[in-house]
Amino acid sequence: MTSILGIGECMIELSPAEGSLLRQGFAGDVFNTLWYAKATGGPDAEVAFFTAVGDDPISDRMLAFAATAGIRCDSVPRIPGRRPGLYVIHLTGAERTFSYWRDTSAARLMMRHANRLWPQVADADFVYFSGITLAILSHEDCELFLGNLRARMKPGARVAFDPNLRPHLWDDADRMRRVISRAAGLSDIVLPSFDDECRNFGDAAPEDTARRYGALGADQVVVKNGPLPTLLLNKGGMQDFPVPPVEGVVDTTAAGDSFNGAYLSALGRGAAVAQAIAVAQACSAQVVYRKGALVPFSDLRI
Ligand code: ADP
Repeated sequence: MTSILGIGECMIELSPAEGSLLRQGFAGDVFNTLWYAKATGGPDAEVAFFTAVGDDPISDRMLAFAATAGIRCDSVPRIPGRRPGLYVIHLTGAERTFSYWRDTSAARLMMRHANRLWPQVADADFVYFSGITLAILSHEDCELFLGNLRARMKPGARVAFDPNLRPHLWDDADRMRRVISRAAGLSDIVLPSFDDECRNFGDAAPEDTARRYGALGADQVVVKNGPLPTLLLNKGGMQDFPVPPVEGVVDTTAAGDSFNGAYLSALGRGAAVAQAIAVAQACSAQVVYRKGALVPFSDLRI
């Protein structure tokens, strides 16, 4: 069975519940992607997460939550005295905004334990990470990660990368664009979202995004664009895949993450690219139709 290793941060999520109550969950872009890789890949899907957590009870609960979903966290280091990052969702009508407390999260120090990461990288068929993974690392740790990743992978294994551009997490926008471009250049599969790329790289159309990442060396660029067609660039050229309409979109949180997870797990099962895009769109359609980042496995019909 194909294995997927995701590298990134999972946070404590507090979302509005009845009255002034907040409901506590866990989420984060790479973790969400692994959730959907597992949800759509079935019980045999091998999905693992590398991050760092603290030595507090909420870190224990986070790892237990991942384990319940079947996401392996065997080698996740514990950082004494650190805790997971946290965010609160504010709802004004259907509009969602977020407050974050993640500056001193344990996950930022994950590369201090790179000796635990590399054996997992060597085992994986797909290594997945995002621009957020890179943004939360120190410059040195980011260099350690990007400078060694390919050399640590087994032959034939693939890197999948979502630029997930979040300028507020970076110390400067030029460095963000440089590091993201470098990571994309190391990747086989790049999974950008057009609105982020338009805002931060000035792309006028999804075709510009696809060409820019394709020119850096990726074999496959899949540009997501909300309800507008998904654009694929690979050695066959460019092709648009219309998104089946969804009636009553409720919450687009994790739309892109769920797309990525379903896409990678479909490729892992041997699906052709067009088929994997259809599965990914079908998965995201169910995610935007429900509240919250993580739709319970039992509610997904793929
Ligand atoms: P991100 O969450 O990264 O910004 P997108 O908004 O582009 O990603 O959405 C990812 C995928 O989710 C799209 O390619 C599409 O399949 C699905 N999706 C998002 N918004 C909608 C929508 N309004 N209607 C139908 N599908 C949607």
